[in-house]
Parts: sequence; C-alpha cells; structure tokens
Amino acid sequence: RFISFEGIDGAGKSTQHAWAVDYLRGQGHTVVATREPGGTPLGEKLRALLLSEPMHLETEALLMFAARREHIAEVIEPALARGDWVVCDRFVDASFAYQGGGRGLDWKKLETLAQWVLGDLQPDLTLIFDAPVAIAQQRLHAATANPDRFEQEQAAFFERVRASYLKIATENPVRVRLIDATQTPNHINKILENIIATF
Ligand code: C5P
Repeated sequence: RFISFEGIDGAGKSTQHAWAVDYLRGQGHTVVATREPGGTPLGEKLRALLLSEPMHLETEALLMFAARREHIAEVIEPALARGDWVVCDRFVDASFAYQGGGRGLDWKKLETLAQWVLGDLQPDLTLIFDAPVAIAQQRLHAATANPDRFEQEQAAFFERVRASYLKIATENPVRVRLIDATQTPNHINKILENIIATF
C-alpha cells in the first residue's frame, strides 16, 4: 500500500505524516517512511539544491522529477514489491501544485513528465491537508526559523498552490481525501485512523 501526504507549507502535513507512520507501525505493519524531494542519497542532494539555488522553472520541475525517478526505482518500487507500506511526505501532486499552479508551468508538460517517470504508479491513497493560506503562513512562521526558497514565497503563490491541490482533490475523488487541516491535531489523528482503516 502506498500513501502520499500533500498540502501547502504550514498545513501540518509533516506532523501528520510522522503520526501516521507511528500509528501504522503500532498496527504491526512494516512501513517505509520517506519524503520528496529526497528519499534517497542522490535525492537528498537534489533536495538541498532545489531548496537553496535559484533556478529556471523548468530546471526545477526536471530536478523534482529526476529525484522522483531515483526514489521510485530505489525505494518505492522495491518496498511495494516486498509488501511493505510506503508512506511518503509529498509525491507527484506536489509538482502539479507547486511547479504547475504555483509557478505556472504548463500542466501538459508536467503530465508528460509524470507519464514518463511514474508510468502506472500512483499512490493508493493521497491525503491533502487543506488550510487557508493565512493560517498556514502563521504556523509556518511560528515553526520555521530559516525558511527555504519555497517557504519564502508570497501568499499569492500559496493561494495558487492551494487552488491546485483543491482541483486535484476534485478531479481524483477516489484516490484523494481532502482533510480540513484547521482542526486540532487530535481530531485529525482520528480522521486519519478512520480513513486508513477503510481505504
Ligand atoms: O514537504 P517539505 O515542506 O519538506 O518540502 C520542501 C519544499 O519543497 C516545500 O517548501 C515545497 O514547497 C517544495 N516543493 C516543491 N515542489 C515539489 C515538492 C516540494 O516546490 N514537487
């Protein structure tokens, strides 16, 4: 089983990702906890570049997909073949939301890259943590001393990213569950328990 966690920066997705990994392990599952960009030694090097170096928009998208190719080949596919659970903090939807919605890269180019790099691979379940940008920004600034290149973007950028995530949720009603991330962490844990028990 393959689950991805998505949402704008500050929505609380990484906290819930960590919680879900612990929860699933507590249920006796073997879980590979991973993240994008990153998840492999090469992918983490690409992540460091992506988060710090200004670059052309298409370079950014290509490096995201290069890191993803490595991640799928080295981590995700072997884990799924073993029968492990893969619980990933961001996956391909982030490229559509950030490089597509946020930066304005042509959606069709992203679809071509996704077709190339993913083939038929899709998460069985994608959780999108949704919160108004102002709330997410507040949380982000309270929690992050040194914001990365993306976290320094203006509210309008995150509005576009959020709108893209909402569009992805609407267009993929079976795979994607939208979660109101303004609720308390405990409440969200309960919602996740229910979703994981039944998906
Ligand atoms: O999930 P996390 O916040 O650690 O991701 C690191 C940064 O990379 C985020 O600020 C996110 O906005 C950005 N990102 C992106 N495009 C992706 C994946 C992540 O812009 N496809």
